[in-house]
Amino acid sequence: MPGIIERFRPYLDLPLGVDPITLSEGNTPLISMPRLASDLGAAELHIKFEGSNPTGSFKDRGMTTAITEAVSRGASAVICASTGNTAASAAAYAARAGLRCVVLLPHGGVASGKLAAAYTHGAEVVEVEGSFDQALGLARRLSERAPIGLVNSLNPYRLEGQKTAAFEITEALGGAPDWLALPVGNAGNISAYWMGYRQLADLEGGDLPHFLGVQARGSAPLVEGHVIEHPETVASAIRIGNPARGEQALTAAEESGGRIIAVPDRAILEAQRDLAHEGLWVEPASAAGLAGLRSEVEAGRLNLSGQRVVCVCTGHGLKDPQVPAEPTTLIPPNLQALEDLLKL
Ligand SMILES: *Cc1c(COP(=O)(O)O)cnc(C)c1O
Repeated sequence: MPGIIERFRPYLDLPLGVDPITLSEGNTPLISMPRLASDLGAAELHIKFEGSNPTGSFKDRGMTTAITEAVSRGASAVICASTGNTAASAAAYAARAGLRCVVLLPHGGVASGKLAAAYTHGAEVVEVEGSFDQALGLARRLSERAPIGLVNSLNPYRLEGQKTAAFEITEALGGAPDWLALPVGNAGNISAYWMGYRQLADLEGGDLPHFLGVQARGSAPLVEGHVIEHPETVASAIRIGNPARGEQALTAAEESGGRIIAVPDRAILEAQRDLAHEGLWVEPASAAGLAGLRSEVEAGRLNLSGQRVVCVCTGHGLKDPQVPAEPTTLIPPNLQALEDLLKL
């Protein structure tokens, strides 16, 4: 399968001249969820499952473009700060391109599978005794002084790649959804989706979706209107107190006729469990979109009757396998014991 650069090249503002650095990212499934739709009172609910990208998150869409652009201008090293998924993705695409890759992680704040992925792909992993925002500050300053390319979503080529998810959703549905719900951390992704939908509307006409951006309550700078010094949430991928693309995200939400809201961790974990009970294991941050839709519907602020809704599930659960310890049962290896246990 071609990756997103090959599929959408005419729509991407990307220097040509080198072959794409790709792992066949994109083309992720849009999965219909009739039971969850009916709980929300919506006509349709579809999950855009970005966990099926090669490194398990949507970050791959932006990394194929950012790394390809870095290669095209002769870079030999890249750096990013990351809550985990950007690190895993940068490490994989840099490996593919033969580039040196440095990742800066907030100490103790990264899910085990994401750390393992970055190491396994051969990145130089540096833990910073501080927050993601401090790590991003360091990566940014170093990239201004030294010959090392920044591949965080401050890099415009990241958004060029990430906007392709909007194209895929429109392609699959034959038009834009009425509402699009997604988690918001550093706010690159919501900004990228808005770019994508705007571009399609300019080129081909058609409607734009309303956006519901969702932050975790302990980490909601765009809802509270100020930087959060010590962001706290179980959803580590959106544990960000000073979003680099915050202004752009607020503008996107407003122009779309939607909004950015915050939900408590409890609601995020409930939504994660309910998605898992429908067969989709996503990481906590990825469940924020569904949690946000529910919270707005329950509070009477959103009526989804007759509406077509898409919820972006940004990353796979496998890299963040922390679940509340469920007791398992140990039995001797005989059939009687199994039958007794299952009461069949
Ligand atoms: C990066 C990430 C987010 C947040 O995306 P932003 O572009 O930083 O807003 C949400 N969920 C997952 C799984 C992520 O990896």
